[in-house]
Amino acid sequence: MQPKKKFGQSFLNSHMVAREIVRLADVSSQDRVLEIGGGLGMLTRWIAAEAREIHVVEMDPGLVRALHDVARGFSNMHIIKGDALTVDIPHVNKVIANLPYSISSGITFRLLREVEFEIAVLMYQKEFALRLVAEPGTSEYSRLSVNVQYYAQVELLMDVSADMFYPVPAVDSSVVKITPRKDGPFAKNESIFHWMIGGIYPYPNKNIRKALRIWFRNLGLNLELSQEVLKRAEEYLEGNEKLRSLSLEKLIHVSDILLEMISEELIVGP
Ligand code: SAM
Repeated sequence: MQPKKKFGQSFLNSHMVAREIVRLADVSSQDRVLEIGGGLGMLTRWIAAEAREIHVVEMDPGLVRALHDVARGFSNMHIIKGDALTVDIPHVNKVIANLPYSISSGITFRLLREVEFEIAVLMYQKEFALRLVAEPGTSEYSRLSVNVQYYAQVELLMDVSADMFYPVPAVDSSVVKITPRKDGPFAKNESIFHWMIGGIYPYPNKNIRKALRIWFRNLGLNLELSQEVLKRAEEYLEGNEKLRSLSLEKLIHVSDILLEMISEELIVGP
């Protein structure tokens, strides 16, 4: 009897979480919403009740059938069967999801690079969410934080404890709001910025001088050139700052210096 009671309570809790996510996304009758991973339609129903239209992506054929049942109640609901990482995404202004955690990284970068949305309100595994919102100087500030914050402002909206669901998942979750940045600073060349972050951030606890040296050695470049990068950056950097402490602005300056050195043919770019 106990599990049944637990399921009933968790079902109600999941509904409350879904309703709260839709409220936090401030969905109105003007909004065209993309939902990723519709499942049984718990979140979908709340969105469909408020939005102008909802496009829900689901890859599991059984759950797609369940969503077709839900769609009978809503004329504004469109189902896209397939993998959210590869399907064509229609024009939307908001994205909402209780994400399948296995695609957290892939779908976040797909949205940021390929979809012109105003806001996304997404539920992630808590540890992942903490890295998304991390500020320089904290232990969670990582390559993911830098790469995502390059594109967007990211804000933690609420934590959702694992015991809100049944069966209880192994991890807690957090809901995050992502607002693409319209204003800079942006790197003069975005691919050089991401090339650099990919090269130096595997060593987040090293200082920038060491991380640049290791990266330049891996690239087969003259190590003195990594000194030259810091020399050109001396207005912004001393060189002994840990990568975990470097702001986006400072990293963008370093990437612009690399661009300068690539155009002077001192360095071969990506
Ligand atoms: N939205 C529902 C809810 O809030 O109860 C279900 C969320 S569940 C965490 C994630 C859903 O994403 C599952 O229904 C799963 O089948 C679906 N899914 C997993 N990987 C997917 C992918 N690559 N593309 C589309 N849907 C996916």
